[in-house]
Amino acid sequence: MIRVMCSGRVDLGFVLRAFSNGVDGVFIAGCRLNECNYTTQGNYYALSMALLCKKILEHIGLDPGRLRIEFMSSADGIRFAQVVSDFSKKIGELGPLGDKEGMQKEGLQEKLSEVIKLVPYIKIVEKEKLGVRLANLDEYKSLYTSDEIEKLFAEVPSYYIDPEKCQACMICARRCPAEAIEGGKNKIHVIDQDKCIKCGTCFEACPSRFGAVTKIIGEPVPPPIPEERRVIARKAKRQGGATV
Ligand code: SF4
Ligand code: SF4
Repeated sequence: MIRVMCSGRVDLGFVLRAFSNGVDGVFIAGCRLNECNYTTQGNYYALSMALLCKKILEHIGLDPGRLRIEFMSSADGIRFAQVVSDFSKKIGELGPLGDKEGMQKEGLQEKLSEVIKLVPYIKIVEKEKLGVRLANLDEYKSLYTSDEIEKLFAEVPSYYIDPEKCQACMICARRCPAEAIEGGKNKIHVIDQDKCIKCGTCFEACPSRFGAVTKIIGEPVPPPIPEERRVIARKAKRQGGATV
């Protein structure tokens, strides 16, 4: 059992990492909806995140029943015991992760690693829905559709720096949260695709007068420019007769 201050602290990445570490089922217990002690209502975020995660599990071939979220108060001890027993029974029936789903361990691990890497991208795309607070709980059933999740994964972008346009201003490298951009003073910058978490920060940050970062969807990313061709030869400027 892992205690957190609020069920809203349970990140999509935490749940997926638990499965990636071999856990057969994840149960999230939050405070009753509309009974938040603060003003944050984090349990609504947890509910939305869990529904999204269930759809993602389904997308990669896992039974969404391996994840469950319930809301209860500290006075609901009996209910907690019942719900947890029920969930344990369900997971017992499903057996080890991937077995009943007919998935090979290696293939499953690969899929989970891929999805975990995409968590920042998924959270950006689904930001609005993750923060939504619907009055009618029935509406949550259709919050995420299978088609939407298909599209989410089909449209994963890649970012590429056009070596012809990059002016080595270093803004993108400074802002990249994953330290995925290699470069330096007077050096054409290059994105390490293995480290990139598809957050799109570099795309937004590159000054429009350079427009060097391209967003690529559904096409292969061009190979990085070789190291020896990354140096930018600046033209010398004349100022007051002196060459600088
Ligand atoms: S999209 Fe750009 S800023 Fe974001 S991780 Fe990838 S390289 Fe870094
Ligand atoms: S922000 Fe644009 S111009 Fe500046 S280093 Fe990055 S890609 Fe190059």
